[in-house]
Amino acid sequence: MKRATSPASASPSRARAGDDSRASHDPSFYEAVLGSIGEAVYVRDLGRKLIYMNRAAERMTGWSIGDALARPCHAVFGDEGAQCNKACPVDRAIGLGESIEHREGSIIRIDGKSVVVRASISLFEEGGAVAGAVVVLKDMSELREQEKTNVKNLLVLERTQRELSEQVEEIKAARLEIARERTRLVDAIESISEGFVLFDADDRLALTNQRFLELYAPLAHLYAPGTPYKDIIRGLAESGLIGEARGRREEWIAERIARRKNPGAPIQRQIGADRWLLINERLTSDGGVVATYTDVTQTKRAEQALRKSEQRFRDFAEVGSDWFWETDAEHRFTYLSRHDDPVIDALNRSSIGNTRVDLCPPRDRDQETWRAHIADIEARRPFRNFEYSREASDGTTRFVRVSGKPLFTDDGSFVGYRGTATDITEQVAADQALNRLNEELEQRVEERTRALAQELDQRKRTERELSQKSALLEATFESISEGFALFDKDDRLVFCNAIYRRLAAQPARNFEPGVPFEDMVRAAFENGRFDYGEGDMEACVRARMAHHRDPHGNLELRTSTGEWILIVERKTADGGIALVQTDITDIKQAEEERRLAQARLIDAIECLPASFVLFDKDQRLVLANRLVKDFFPPVTDMLTPGVSFAALSRRIVESGWIVDAEGREEEYLRQYLERDRRAPVQFEARLADGRTLQFIEQNTSDGGMVGMRIDITERKSTENALVAAKESADVASRAKSDFLSRMSHELRTPLNAITLYTQMLIEDAEAIGAEQSASDLRKVDSSAHHLLKLIDEVLDISKIEAGTLGIDARELDLGELLAGCIDLVRPLAKNRGVTIENRTPESGEPRVWADETRLRQVILNVLSNAVKYNRDNGVVSLEAIAQMPDTVRVTVSDTGIGIPAEKRHEVFEPFARLGAECSRIEGTGVGLTISRDLIRLMGGEMGFESTLGEGSAFWIDIPRAT
Ligand code: ADP
Repeated sequence: MKRATSPASASPSRARAGDDSRASHDPSFYEAVLGSIGEAVYVRDLGRKLIYMNRAAERMTGWSIGDALARPCHAVFGDEGAQCNKACPVDRAIGLGESIEHREGSIIRIDGKSVVVRASISLFEEGGAVAGAVVVLKDMSELREQEKTNVKNLLVLERTQRELSEQVEEIKAARLEIARERTRLVDAIESISEGFVLFDADDRLALTNQRFLELYAPLAHLYAPGTPYKDIIRGLAESGLIGEARGRREEWIAERIARRKNPGAPIQRQIGADRWLLINERLTSDGGVVATYTDVTQTKRAEQALRKSEQRFRDFAEVGSDWFWETDAEHRFTYLSRHDDPVIDALNRSSIGNTRVDLCPPRDRDQETWRAHIADIEARRPFRNFEYSREASDGTTRFVRVSGKPLFTDDGSFVGYRGTATDITEQVAADQALNRLNEELEQRVEERTRALAQELDQRKRTERELSQKSALLEATFESISEGFALFDKDDRLVFCNAIYRRLAAQPARNFEPGVPFEDMVRAAFENGRFDYGEGDMEACVRARMAHHRDPHGNLELRTSTGEWILIVERKTADGGIALVQTDITDIKQAEEERRLAQARLIDAIECLPASFVLFDKDQRLVLANRLVKDFFPPVTDMLTPGVSFAALSRRIVESGWIVDAEGREEEYLRQYLERDRRAPVQFEARLADGRTLQFIEQNTSDGGMVGMRIDITERKSTENALVAAKESADVASRAKSDFLSRMSHELRTPLNAITLYTQMLIEDAEAIGAEQSASDLRKVDSSAHHLLKLIDEVLDISKIEAGTLGIDARELDLGELLAGCIDLVRPLAKNRGVTIENRTPESGEPRVWADETRLRQVILNVLSNAVKYNRDNGVVSLEAIAQMPDTVRVTVSDTGIGIPAEKRHEVFEPFARLGAECSRIEGTGVGLTISRDLIRLMGGEMGFESTLGEGSAFWIDIPRAT
């Protein structure tokens, strides 16, 4: 280790100051020296303070001298120790007091890069002690790099040598291999299926394999080893077996020879008529030519067939509307087959080089179909029937339908699409027309649907109304009193009402809608509902069904329980049948009763002791009983219903059967037939057989006529006898009346004298007080008056009987007359204490039409009877009331003894006194007889009512004055 011994050497400036020998050198000299050397130099003190650094150090560290000098040396040159946790070598050298030579290390530049350096550290002293160190750093980077390169080169050299020796070995082996290879090659050449020919660099035949000689069998002789190529070619040309040389031999030879140095693509050669070879020639590396011959006859044939087929397809394509197309990997059209349509063909021609998308009108590209198509071709998927439009040069739009499949090479790379296309412009136009038609159709369908819906609505409404109506109808039918059932055109039940169900008497299931009528008939028959008689059931069902299917007239059926059902069936408009069932049991019974009554009547008419005829309103005979034939033999043969009244009458009259018509038949007939028949007719006629008939004819309410002829022959003779008797009685009666009249007169005169003289004698006797005589005389007087009254009454009776009593009727005030009568009777009543009450209204009294004297006589008789036959202090009441229509009834009531029932019939008999004759009540018993006769003569009537012990009420009806 060396150490600087001069402290002055610690600093260049000090070294210069302390060393005169060097003092001749200006410090700037050292500065210049240090600054110009290539190694970096820096000086530091013990405190690591950087005292100096040169330019080279500046370059090495990247620090400028100015910046660096103020800093610790570690900050500028790095601290190797700090980096590797060891003490800094400079510190260590200082610590050891030894300089260090050529120590390898590294410093860190200001930019952080590391620089490999070899450091030489020299210590300097001041005052005998180490004061710092001078460090010289040599940049070792390049040197190190060079060393590395040298090592590498050495390694390469070694490897190259190794490889060379290996190659030498390989070459040796290769040569061996080549020799073996050649053998194998020759073997291989012999074994390959292709023909093989090798020419050497001098173009002489070197080698052929067996396959080649087979292929070139007719020309194999030309291929002797060593034969120059040109000779072989000529031989081939001249053989005439080479198709391509025919007719151009020299030309072909020249072509073949020219091709020798540049074989190019394989060629095909036709040998003979039907052999095709593919010849592939290649130059060999040694200037020879090798050629392989592949028999492509089959391929060629297939190719020819394919070509033909392709041509056929092209022809088909070109004559049809379709065309073929091909696109490349970028979807540009590379091929489009020809098309007959010049517009399409022009479009196709102009498409070459463009993609389908390029040709698409921009407006279409956003369509869904286009997006799908683009997605298909981008994914290289096959596509079918994609349709799009193209704008033709003539301005029309052409529609195309295309299908395509992607093409890939054997190694799977996509080379484009191939496909077909069809012009569907016409079809589209047709489709559009069809669409329009469809739309129209749809519209029409829609309209029709709407109309149908409306119709349906209407129908529903109608159905609803119908169902309401039918409900109403059903309700109506339910409420009618007849059985009703409706059957449809298939004769199945539609509806029936409750009454029908009751009358039909069937199991409930037979009233379900849809039940055939025949089932109901059969059920009714089977359950014995209807009395079909003795016949076979099926025959009865058939008969009923026959009537049902062809309804005519009404059907009356008798049930087994004796009811009668009337069935009326009618065809309905829709071919069904409406059936109405009515329970006519009552009617039937009434009819039966009527029939019986009629039979009774006819029996009665037959039993009549008179002939009986009935004519209808047209005067045609309806009925004649047996006696008609008896009475009128001339019309026996005519008595059938319908014969006219006139014809019968004429036959009877003209036959001379009516005696009264003899000799004047026509007149008689005319009078008889033409007389007014409104009033009943009654007359008598004598018959030619001597009988006398009474003819009685009367109109019936329906405009007809009944006639009866009664045999009155006997009665007539009796009548005649009676008339004779009456006439003689009348003579006797008149004689009696005359006698009575005379007698009365004769009796009355002396009786009047008696009463007159008796009255005078009574007065005389009273005057002298001869009471006994007076009393006796009064009795005489009374008897005489009684007798006079009796005579008057007998006279009245005889006058009445003789019909000679005159009635002088006139209008009378009845009230006045009644009041007068009451006044006359009042003294008699007073004697008995009887009260007389007149209840006749005073005003508006009824006026009557009567003989005043005779009416007074009647009223007085009845009024005096009421007093006479009353009890003491009884009551008599009198009342006059106007009666409808034209009478006035006077009623006289009493509270007397009454009249026993058994004697009532005697009340109006002459001289009947009903027991009063035994009493002290005076009377003659003829008063009431005369009274009734008088009232009747005045056109009135008289009667009475009586209760024994309670009283009687006598009434008199008098004609009312109008
Ligand atoms: P006479 O002169 O007897 O009254 P009439 O002819 O007047 O005769 O009556 C006949 C008879 O009828 C009477 O004798 C009397 O018996 C009976 N008679 C008449 N009027 C009444 C009467 N008001 N009450 C009861 N009996 C009567």
